[in-house]
Amino acid sequence: MYNVKSMKAEEFISHEEILDTLAYAEANKDNLALVDEIIAKAELRQGLSHRDASVLLACEDAERIAKIYALAEQIKKDFYGNRIVMFAPLYLSNYCINGCTYCPYHAKNKHIARKKLTQEEVRAEVIALQDMGHKRLALEAGEDPVNNPLEYILECIKTIYSIKHKNGAIRRVNVNIAATTVEDYRKLKEAGIGTYILFQETYHKESYEALHPTGPKHNYAYHTEAMDRAMEGGIDDVGLGVLFGLERYKYEFAGLLMHAEHLEAVHGVGPHTISVPRIKHADDIDPNAFANGIDDETFAKLVALIRIAVPYTGMIVSTRESQAVREKVLRLGISQISGGSRTSVGGYTEADRPTDTEQFDVSDQRTLDEVVHWLMDLGYIPSFCTACYRAGRTGDRFMELCKSKQIQNCCHPNALMTLKEYLVDYASEETRAIGEKLIEAELLNIPKENVRAVCADHLKKIEEGIRDFRF
Ligand code: SAM
Repeated sequence: MYNVKSMKAEEFISHEEILDTLAYAEANKDNLALVDEIIAKAELRQGLSHRDASVLLACEDAERIAKIYALAEQIKKDFYGNRIVMFAPLYLSNYCINGCTYCPYHAKNKHIARKKLTQEEVRAEVIALQDMGHKRLALEAGEDPVNNPLEYILECIKTIYSIKHKNGAIRRVNVNIAATTVEDYRKLKEAGIGTYILFQETYHKESYEALHPTGPKHNYAYHTEAMDRAMEGGIDDVGLGVLFGLERYKYEFAGLLMHAEHLEAVHGVGPHTISVPRIKHADDIDPNAFANGIDDETFAKLVALIRIAVPYTGMIVSTRESQAVREKVLRLGISQISGGSRTSVGGYTEADRPTDTEQFDVSDQRTLDEVVHWLMDLGYIPSFCTACYRAGRTGDRFMELCKSKQIQNCCHPNALMTLKEYLVDYASEETRAIGEKLIEAELLNIPKENVRAVCADHLKKIEEGIRDFRF
């Protein structure tokens, strides 16, 4: 039944294969010779199979777990350096015809306010986001072919890319909308989206169907095969994720890696990103009503293991997580975080934090400036870079760059230049002072002398107010 190359969801995410994997992992979790062998394999930085990675997830030996954390940290440093890419979600509409039992946008929720941004409102939200300093967005919307058809999403994308306000610009629009057709994915690609993100929620078919009792999202195969259709439609950067808390995390972990293996086997390129959301309280949603919640330690272990299992895949953590948890997982493998996020429709232009259309409670409520400041205090370079996607470095071309470790001559200077733009255009005085020092020191970490010189020259131009190049 299990066939990584099959285009059928139930074959590439074979339930039997996951159960066999979990049994194998359980049987071998104390087999320390095997655990050591798998860790040695991970040290080669070529990733791990879902079976091997599941053994490490099951292993409870403190010494081995410490070794896994140290390796995750090292792999993160090797492939991503100390850069953290910044983004913000933008909620377009919370109209939804699905019945997802964990999401307050579910169709039966009659007391939540329903709202869809007009193009004027999109413009106002984007200006507010640009004024914070954001360059990269993730568009969010419920599924509703009448209120938010694809044409509406496409119109919003067009509006967003057209807004030039002061020195601001949204340079990369990622999209997190419901599974759709190849033809629609082609239209999204043509509209210039970056990554297409779709969380699987759970890989467990039976649970999936129970958690999505009504609406088009009920169809497990259609949802699970969405990334294949997206790739067929020409989108080569896709973002996976499961909503931790819905099912047993070991099951989800194996399914997630099998999905990544499938994309690599069929399309020659694995997922561009993996997100690790956990269920949060929201309007009529109580996370405690879900039996499979995971604690912070398990969450950290999952992040570390995803990092070593798929070293070339970016990892995203949102403001669902607190400052303390974010600090921990940043070290272990996260490469992208959101900052200053609002999870309500119209949230960036309303003076008070509005909650009437909020999708979930935000744990990290700091401003973008505070997040940037904090990241730099921790030794990270907040990066607003979006160059890869505009330079055509997506999909396998990005992976090649990552695998050949050329990122230090490419992403590192771009990160410094976009941070400089942020500091000059948007940062508070204190954040700017810290940032300027950081940039001065980090400039020396660009290996190629000619690249360093070009970067220094651009930094000077940014200081002088020139913004005629794009990163
Ligand atoms: N409607 C699209 C879909 O069905 O994929 C977009 C999804 S929604 C705007 C983004 C994600 O939020 C969902 O995929 C889900 O994983 C997550 N989400 C929903 N309810 C949540 C909750 N209560 N806590 C945390 N995350 C939640």
